[in-house]
Amino acid sequence: AIETQGKYYLYFDKELKEDIQNEYDIKLMLNKAIIYGEFSINYQPQVNSKTGDVIGAEALLRWNTKKLGPISPAVFIPIAERTGQIVEIGYWVIERVFKDYESLKEKIGKNFRISINISAMQFNDENFLRRIKESIEKNKINTSYFELEITESLLLSGLKQVNEKLNELRKLGFTIAIDDFGTGYSSLSYIKQLNINKLKIDRTFIKDYPNNDDGEIADIITNISYKLKLDVIAEGVETEEQIEYLKRKGCYLIQGYYYSKPLAKDEFLEYLPLT
Ligand code: C2E
Ligand code: CA
Ligand code: CA
Ligand code: CA
Repeated sequence: AIETQGKYYLYFDKELKEDIQNEYDIKLMLNKAIIYGEFSINYQPQVNSKTGDVIGAEALLRWNTKKLGPISPAVFIPIAERTGQIVEIGYWVIERVFKDYESLKEKIGKNFRISINISAMQFNDENFLRRIKESIEKNKINTSYFELEITESLLLSGLKQVNEKLNELRKLGFTIAIDDFGTGYSSLSYIKQLNINKLKIDRTFIKDYPNNDDGEIADIITNISYKLKLDVIAEGVETEEQIEYLKRKGCYLIQGYYYSKPLAKDEFLEYLPLT
């Protein structure tokens, strides 16, 4: 038994080592990704299921490496967050999206918003406000076309500090959405005091409906959003059944494969209706 245990331990240790090795390789590759031009942005449409209007899009980072081909953000973003590289990558994303806006603005309506993911580490970066202002000025951006997605993990850094930054961002013209709502650390009394506009229901609370899931959590989050006078959007919606359920519960804003996968900028432009 001891021998088996020992073997098991060795085996486990070897896997762990490989993981660490991979993480180290990815870290090194990420250092070059920007100068090698390996990053790009996809846009996933957000639709009002009542009217059919495309009301926005989420900007999602893509990494196509010369060495290994595409690597999923689900793999490299957590690593970039651990190493701190997400801060510079995040600024690259903002710049890229602001530049894309030049060609998007012709086709998007007045109430359209492009949402950008901001990781907690970037939000907490002391240069965040200065650098985002520089990007706005440099690209002559109308911020009322942009939303920032932040996560509940931010709240760990204290309500007062977070709200001061949120107030500044709101003053600049951005709207703010809480991403992956309900999956992380959060307290309702905190959420209530935050200067935000929207709750985003995570795919976890949608994907198994109606199998293995009665949709209860999505329903509860929608109710919370109404109580707090916030907008609500569901992500990861793939079926008509899910859309109908969310509609019955009062959640009309939808992002998911049912409408479209994330699209390269030119594909996204084609997806948008003629104006
Ligand atoms: P997220 O912010 O929760 O983004 C939604 C994810 O769900 C995206 O995965 C999107 O492609 C996927 N998705 C949307 N609709 C559906 C659907 O109907 N079915 C399924 N199966 N999936 C759907 P993606 O693009 O792989 O991104 C994964 C995560 O990586 C994101 O989760 C976000 O946390 C992070 N990420 C992506 N781009 C950025 C970025 O520019 N900055 C930061 N900080 N994080 C990013
Ligand atoms: Ca997001
Ligand atoms: Ca997320
Ligand atoms: Ca999510």
